[in-house]
Amino acid sequence: MTPRARPATAYCRACRGRKTPGHYLCETCWFTVPAPARRALTLRDAQAVDRLRALLNHINSGLPLADLEITP
Ligand SMILES: [Zn+2]
Repeated sequence: MTPRARPATAYCRACRGRKTPGHYLCETCWFTVPAPARRALTLRDAQAVDRLRALLNHINSGLPLADLEITP
């Protein structure tokens, strides 16, 4: 298997709806996330993977996206 064969996730991590490839969430869920957390999640730096993990942990815990807190 080559890295190229890995498909972009096409479904929202929170609601399993369709989303834009390259985004973590669909538009509906994304705009439910508080603005400071949204800003942090759009940064692409060394901590980006940690932020994504925090987002997924939050979703997996069943907590509402509106309560998500992520600091850069
Ligand atoms: Zn969604």
